[in-house]
Amino acid sequence: MRIDIITIFPDYFTPLELSLIGKARKSGILDIRLHDLRSWTHDRHHTVDDTPYGGGPGMVMKPQPWGEALDAVVGAAPDPVPRLILPTPSGVPFTQRHAARLAGEPWLVFACGRYEGIDSRVAVDAARRMPVEELSIGDYVLAGGESATLVMVETVSRLLPGVLGNTESAEQDSFAPGVMDDLVEGPVYTKPAEWRGQEVPPVLLSGHHGAVDRWRRDEALRRTARNRPELLRRMAPDRLDRRDREV
Ligand code: SAM
Repeated sequence: MRIDIITIFPDYFTPLELSLIGKARKSGILDIRLHDLRSWTHDRHHTVDDTPYGGGPGMVMKPQPWGEALDAVVGAAPDPVPRLILPTPSGVPFTQRHAARLAGEPWLVFACGRYEGIDSRVAVDAARRMPVEELSIGDYVLAGGESATLVMVETVSRLLPGVLGNTESAEQDSFAPGVMDDLVEGPVYTKPAEWRGQEVPPVLLSGHHGAVDRWRRDEALRRTARNRPELLRRMAPDRLDRRDREV
């Protein structure tokens, strides 16, 4: 997968050289390219922002550098056609389902906003050439789209074949489409079996796979009910079996 990131802070993305993503880049699974938006400015101060029309506080990112940046990165008739992701608190909430869908794309472009955001004409102009999605990583306001982009790139990347050592681990994670759609994962344990007076639940030492699966499902249901009751409320009734209802 190719990922282009346009930002005024390319250095923000050094974490993408580490860990799973760093390895995936070295092995060629991921081709991540960083672009400094200021390369597409033409004044001495490399200005990317201006005052908002209509007045009010803050500054808005100018359309001109963004338009030129997208022209240069994407080209006039791209093949394959990339998908432009605009991180914004006013976007659709980003979920594991988005991540799973985006992991099937050949090419993603992220446009990192700053200040009060990017002039709205940039998204309209880009949509003439490629699909555009406005995505939010949560109901709070960050200083810029860089950290939101890091979140989304990491979430999507770990779903690409070959990135995780064990693909099953993603399939059993919280929110995994199909299995855990509307559930969060229950507690996990490793050795030693007893630590500071706490014992690992005996079923996990039993070697009985059926019982372990049932225990994990019960714990996922309990934790979801405790921490994310709204997920259970919106779950389709046919996704809960008789035993689930007893938990
Ligand atoms: N004025 C905007 C609003 O009220 O919706 C907030 C702009 S915010 C200070 C600057 C940039 O940070 C945004 O353009 C966006 O790229 C990014 N950003 C902030 N919060 C975000 C969130 N929850 N999800 C995704 N991106 C976010």
